[in-house]
Amino acid sequence: MKNLESYVRSIPDFPEPGIIFRDVTSVLQDKDGLKMAIDSMQELIKDLDFDVIVGPESRGFIFGVPLAYNLNKAFIPVRKKGKLPCETISMDYDLEYGKATIEVHKDAIKPGQKVVIVDDLIATGGTIEAITKLVEMLGGEVVKIIFLMELKGLKGREKLSGFDVEAVIQYE
Ligand code: 5GP
Repeated sequence: MKNLESYVRSIPDFPEPGIIFRDVTSVLQDKDGLKMAIDSMQELIKDLDFDVIVGPESRGFIFGVPLAYNLNKAFIPVRKKGKLPCETISMDYDLEYGKATIEVHKDAIKPGQKVVIVDDLIATGGTIEAITKLVEMLGGEVVKIIFLMELKGLKGREKLSGFDVEAVIQYE
């Protein structure tokens, strides 16, 4: 069987010149790649004491939901501005390529709940830093943050210092 890294397709100059995009669709579209990705992320949290998984639109959903389902936890979606129907709190943040606002339902996390944040990839760390703030605004405690991939050169971990951060695959 191939190793997980070999399922990730690397696309030079996407979405801008000079950026190597790490494509996760090539992992998902192979049944062994998909299984290996979910299983490896699950290994990172299977023995952890926590209540809910929080994941950002859209690739955080792809990985967050199977992990929540397998580990019998709830899943909380964090969405782009304007998509959630009930009362929300929101946070603005800088992206590797621009700016964005994300939102979560106010009643999604109860004070004192232990939260694991899941996403496909950490680049600058801006997205996940914003999510840690939303979780803490609602009284949740971020006990771990996991990714399938980490782009180490962008130093996203520095934005998440103080949190327990792990990634399955690391790129320099
Ligand atoms: P950050 O906020 O850490 O700068 O950016 C992370 C977000 O951008 C993630 O939600 C991720 O989906 C997306 N992203 C940035 N660069 C890449 C990339 O090379 N590959 C993939 N799959 N997603 C990326």
